[in-house]
Amino acid sequence: RLYSSEVEAVETQAEDGAVPTTELTNFADLSQLGVHRNLLDAVIKDMRYDTMTPVQSKTINPALKGTDIVAQAKTGTGKTLAFLLPLLQRMIEEDPSLASRRASRSARSDDIRGIVLSPTRELAEQIAEEARRLTKHTGLVVQSAVGGTHKGSMLRQTQRQGCHLLVATPGRLYDLLQDPSSGIEAPNLAAMVLDEADRMLDVGFEKELAEITRCLPSRDEKIRQTMLVSATIPNDVIRLARTMVRADDFEFVQTIS
Ligand code: ADP
Ligand code: MG
Repeated sequence: RLYSSEVEAVETQAEDGAVPTTELTNFADLSQLGVHRNLLDAVIKDMRYDTMTPVQSKTINPALKGTDIVAQAKTGTGKTLAFLLPLLQRMIEEDPSLASRRASRSARSDDIRGIVLSPTRELAEQIAEEARRLTKHTGLVVQSAVGGTHKGSMLRQTQRQGCHLLVATPGRLYDLLQDPSSGIEAPNLAAMVLDEADRMLDVGFEKELAEITRCLPSRDEKIRQTMLVSATIPNDVIRLARTMVRADDFEFVQTIS
């Protein structure tokens, strides 16, 4: 276990100085907030986590409400679960039939509800793997789209199985969105995550990120949630956050540990 039951000191700065959100420490407490049993079973019974890490306990509650998030926490502090759990829960809330594995569904091109962007292929595959473990007892389908893999077989698999959550590198996603024959579009996109935003900019994905945002449904038509997650928040990440996150309504989560 990473953390003992006493959650270490955490510091949240709400941009508007708003009332601090209730802090939850155990995954089991999330059932009170309506988080589906099938997701919690994966976390508590399969993954055997009971206590949230500080970034999880600060992020999950506001993220469940659809608030935009900018979260800074060190590597290895459990940021993946902090964004995946609320993302998946919100997908189930939008379409409760997806909570069950037996959900009889046919793959549709407008299935994509969430996109997670990651700077490298390895990290993207790790996130997809964690998302597949989390969705094991649900009808949610996770696909990954990364460079260096066969595009055609990825697309065939997506056409066959559908895709609710797409985990991608910016280069590959940009490529797919540019190609009308890919069938990859996300008219019902509800949430977008930029994981490791600092590394994404280091790798030089700024242009792809801007293009991807341009191709996806605009914020005005769809109330899309954005979560930006990073180990460090240098100036270029602040600039990126300004273009991606609702300026007047976001939660800045910063953990010391
Ligand atoms: P980060 O993205 O912040 O670098 P990860 O999400 O990759 O961190 O998590 C680091 C490790 O901690 C992973 O092996 C993950 O499975 C584990 N982990 C995440 N949350 C918890 C938790 N609440 N309790 C115990 N282990 C956890
Ligand atoms: Mg990470």
